Amino acid sequence: MTARAFYWCRACRRPLFAASSAVAGTARDWEIDHQEPGDCANDALFPLAGTAAAPEELRHAAGVLRLFGH
Ligand SMILES: [Zn+2]
Repeated sequence: MTARAFYWCRACRRPLFAASSAVAGTARDWEIDHQEPGDCANDALFPLAGTAAAPEELRHAAGVLRLFGH
């Protein structure tokens, strides 16, 4: 299953992509970064990568991701 999720960067408010691949159980390996390179105050935190059931559960996610519509 391919998961597609769209987020905005909290720092620069540009769109992010979230790519993931399945690992054991419900966990997925995530890689999240800006859709286009550019200046961002949170650049040191990108790409945001790790293993979790959802991007929101990744370390640093709360400070980096802005959920679409929120
Ligand atoms: Zn940004």
